[in-house]
Amino acid sequence: MKHPSGGMWCAVMKPETSVRVRFAPSPTGYPHLGNIRTALFSWLFARHHGGKFLLRIEDTDVARKVEGTVDVILDSLRWLGLDWDEGPYFQSERLHYYQEAASKLIEDGFAYKCYCSRERLEMVRQEQMKRKQPPGYDGHCRNLTEQEKSQLEASGIAPVVRFKMPLEGETTLHDLIRGEVTFKNSVLSDFVLLKSDGYPTYHLANIVDDHLMAISHVLRADEWLSSTPRHILLYRALNWTPPQFAHLPMILGPDKAKLSKRHGATNIIDYREQGYLPQAMINFMALLGWSLDDKTELLSREELIEHFSLGRVSKTAAVFNKRKLEWMNGVYLRQLSPEEFARQGTPFLDRGLPSSVKRPLSSSYVRQVMPLLQERAKTLAEIPQLGDFLFFDDIEYDTNLLLSSGLDAKSAIQTIEVVLQRLQTAKTWDASSLEAVLRPLAAELNLSTRKFFGLLRVATTGRTAAPPLFQTMVVLGKEKCFKHLASALQRMSVL
Ligand code: GLU
Repeated sequence: MKHPSGGMWCAVMKPETSVRVRFAPSPTGYPHLGNIRTALFSWLFARHHGGKFLLRIEDTDVARKVEGTVDVILDSLRWLGLDWDEGPYFQSERLHYYQEAASKLIEDGFAYKCYCSRERLEMVRQEQMKRKQPPGYDGHCRNLTEQEKSQLEASGIAPVVRFKMPLEGETTLHDLIRGEVTFKNSVLSDFVLLKSDGYPTYHLANIVDDHLMAISHVLRADEWLSSTPRHILLYRALNWTPPQFAHLPMILGPDKAKLSKRHGATNIIDYREQGYLPQAMINFMALLGWSLDDKTELLSREELIEHFSLGRVSKTAAVFNKRKLEWMNGVYLRQLSPEEFARQGTPFLDRGLPSSVKRPLSSSYVRQVMPLLQERAKTLAEIPQLGDFLFFDDIEYDTNLLLSSGLDAKSAIQTIEVVLQRLQTAKTWDASSLEAVLRPLAAELNLSTRKFFGLLRVATTGRTAAPPLFQTMVVLGKEKCFKHLASALQRMSVL
């Protein structure tokens, strides 16, 4: 096959041994976890082998195109650091390559023009349904005479181009993950290659580009496996060597149904909004269908590149576990330097705190607050809810919480009164002085530390679970602590 700009392609043609993989999303919706897992595995495979990673936008399905999707795809890949070496190529700008391939297939007797109307195709479908036959084109235009062809051509009907499926035999593919997979040719009907508007279908555009872009390995979702025999037959008809195929296992929700929004798996970019770190997402997605061994959970980007192999991609579906993602994100959040955590967390804090909190937030106060929250946050978006009380002048809570660790109101009141007196004696307002004053008090008052500190925690923060008490009191400052303790006394006096 000759290409008008063949010279351009010479530049990207590589010896057969070099690894060239592509991520080929269709801009029909925002990319979700499954899409990006395909991108990640392709990228890891390319980087592991020192090969090239290409980005190709498969935008020939004009009707299903969703505006703005391409930007989100690029944004998602950039956020995750999945850098591409070539592209993005846009199939809509390459129509002549597909049209040329279709002509060549017709010329060589592997494809034909089909003039069937929509109504006729619908009739055929109805008939097939009635007879309980699988749906598919009945091959009506496959054997038109020359005379019929020229009549139809003259009638002005814009034809589609269909591939002439072998009527018998089998097509076998050697999938790098699934092993040998064989399909009966007779189950597949003559599928469309080129639509009447001159746009290719996925099958044609996909194989033409994989060939022209010298793709060595196609890593893609399992759902494409049933398309692959068509692709293999197309490669054969065009006398091209097909790439190697690796169909990646599905991702299921915990209920074993295909992963969807209802499982809390959202578009990839939403994870950024929810305060997940790219390094956690990469690590988490890498383990959706791949593993290093049966125990290692935490792997850096470099380790993943070093160890990634198709040999350890599983044949069986992976199960999405949101809890594990949250845990992993928490691990990566704690690995950030305090400065970095504060830098990344501040916009979330600013967005999440109520408008009653004075803006701009004091950056020095935020810097003090953040280390307390870094220990506990599973996502950056949790920061405001974990630490809002640190920004409030008065804290709101159910008074009964003060008694939740088991003290009665009378002893709780006495306890806080003693605490207030003793805190006056704290030499300085730092964690060790506070501890030196408060810790012995529990024993002195004959209270378990659980009851004693439980009471103080609620009185100073309004919650039963909060960051470490002494550090929290330090950050709150003496004045606010006294104010909150006094308000707790007042609350209890009316119980
Ligand atoms: N455009 C297809 C998709 O959106 C590409 C499938 C393939 O990689 O061949 O998934």
